[in-house]
Amino acid sequence: MDTTKIQLQNITHVYVNSTEANTAIENINLDVKTGEFVSIVGPSGCGKSTILSCIAGLLKPTCGKILIDNIAITKPSSKVGYMLQSDYLFDWRTIFKNACIGLEVMKQLTKETEEYALHLLKEMGLAKYKDHYPSQLSGGMRQRAALVRTLAAKPDVLLLDEPFSALDYQNKLKLEDLVSMTLKKHNKTAILVTHDIAEAIAMSDRIIIMDNYPGKIKETVIIPDEIRNTVPFSAREVEGFYDIFHKIWKELDVDEQ
Ligand code: ADP
Ligand code: MG
Repeated sequence: MDTTKIQLQNITHVYVNSTEANTAIENINLDVKTGEFVSIVGPSGCGKSTILSCIAGLLKPTCGKILIDNIAITKPSSKVGYMLQSDYLFDWRTIFKNACIGLEVMKQLTKETEEYALHLLKEMGLAKYKDHYPSQLSGGMRQRAALVRTLAAKPDVLLLDEPFSALDYQNKLKLEDLVSMTLKKHNKTAILVTHDIAEAIAMSDRIIIMDNYPGKIKETVIIPDEIRNTVPFSAREVEGFYDIFHKIWKELDVDEQ
């Protein structure tokens, strides 16, 4: 059964400082279903990160309401995991200790939750490295460790803000597959912000294209089943992939003129 997980109702956010007010996003309406993977693409500064920060409960929108499971978001919650471009691993903690930090902060560190973190490390191919320190790992491995840390708290919703953009191309493609399969397996709901159109098409059920000044939703692109049901790496070879790519490219290119 399709249930709505996240609802953005008329979200507007204005950043105010002593000299100016900047309307970052205006009248954003978006429903995301349980288990759905939605990507947001758009020009730099159109408010993509602002939207994620609002959903994460880190930023209170100036107007509008955000609901998760029909309950209004007022503060950060363990239901929502946030993953960013920088992995924010602590250099003085081992990979395992880094993976458990969210649990520790929320006072949820038990034998059972530790086992789960260990299970996720195994799933991500990091079991061997659990006692290593972040500086001993490659960028791709560090991002996988950050993903384990995010998933260890068992969030229902994952917010991914350009999590692959600092990686080299091969690692990025590998991690796309791993993240996509892991989220599907655990039936997580996800919103990915990316500037990589191919990544958005390969990973998503639906793509939201945003416009600038102020940031608003310009168009929604539904990804056909043949692409959705294929792992991101191979999705790029499915017929029709590049038609969607060019369509989105054109939409974004118009904004730059
Ligand atoms: P994106 O993630 O799409 O690049 P952001 O959400 O980071 O966009 O920013 C949207 C707009 O809000 C931009 O004009 C940016 O300069 C502005 N902005 C972002 N964060 C702040 C802030 N903390 N204070 C003031 N303005 C901000
Ligand atoms: Mg951003």
